[in-house]
Amino acid sequence: MKILVAEHAGFCFGVERAVGIVEDTANKKSNVITLGPIIHNPQLVNKLKEKGVLPLENIDEVKDVHTVIIRSHGITKDNYELLKNKGVEIIDATCPFVIKAHNSAMKLSKEGYSVIVFGDKNHPEVKGIVSYVEGEYFLVSNSEEAKNLPFRKKYGLVAQTTQNSQSFEEVVSVVQDKCDELKVINTICNATTHRQEAAKEVAKQVDMMIVIGGKNSGNTRRLFEICSELCKNTVHIETKDELSEKMFENIEKVGITAGASTPDYLIKDVINYLEEVKNERERKENR
Ligand code: SF4
Repeated sequence: MKILVAEHAGFCFGVERAVGIVEDTANKKSNVITLGPIIHNPQLVNKLKEKGVLPLENIDEVKDVHTVIIRSHGITKDNYELLKNKGVEIIDATCPFVIKAHNSAMKLSKEGYSVIVFGDKNHPEVKGIVSYVEGEYFLVSNSEEAKNLPFRKKYGLVAQTTQNSQSFEEVVSVVQDKCDELKVINTICNATTHRQEAAKEVAKQVDMMIVIGGKNSGNTRRLFEICSELCKNTVHIETKDELSEKMFENIEKVGITAGASTPDYLIKDVINYLEEVKNERERKENR
């Protein structure tokens, strides 16, 4: 059995940076909290809890004794102001690419464009992006929804950083017919595009594809969708414990990819497990 690992898989720059900030802060301070889990990976969030870093869901629970770390996908402008007014220490781990999306949305609205944000409507990053729009905005999660947009003179379009580039292009082509002038700022970050392209490259060559990452991680779920189109036998797992030897019967080539919020050690666990399955199979064949 051959094991192929996607060239780009696992932690992206922004997540690595945010997790590093949390670990450093936890070593120096007590009462450290994150607003929501620092990343969409339950295993890593649990490890950080053991170090005393608690994810608080509700901003009302933040007390003045807390050091608050803002996670990589950012928060809304209003919540940032609320935190400042509470007088807490704020450590901002928002990814620079997400800040670019905030600034692009704000710039477009200031220039008089009706802003369209392409992304998951309920995702905190998208809520953060729209909070920087100073005028009218619309949220669309696919090109079908874009078809229902009203006609406007000037549309400005940005995207949630982790969206699929191909779907973004589809939205662009629909919106072109909905306005006189369209300004597109592609805010999808390279990490996402690289992971998606590398995953495709592997998925089209294998009999089985394993996508590792939080079930609550949007970018991991998108990798799963992309891989499923190219390899029918694609599974989404969080840890190696969800795998069994039986799943690899008749599999000659297995591929691996992982979301941008998947820690390296979870990927290595899966690779080691597959190596064991492979070795065991070879032992049986040589008997
Ligand atoms: S996926 Fe991109 S935008 Fe999001 S944290 Fe990673 S590098 Fe930043």
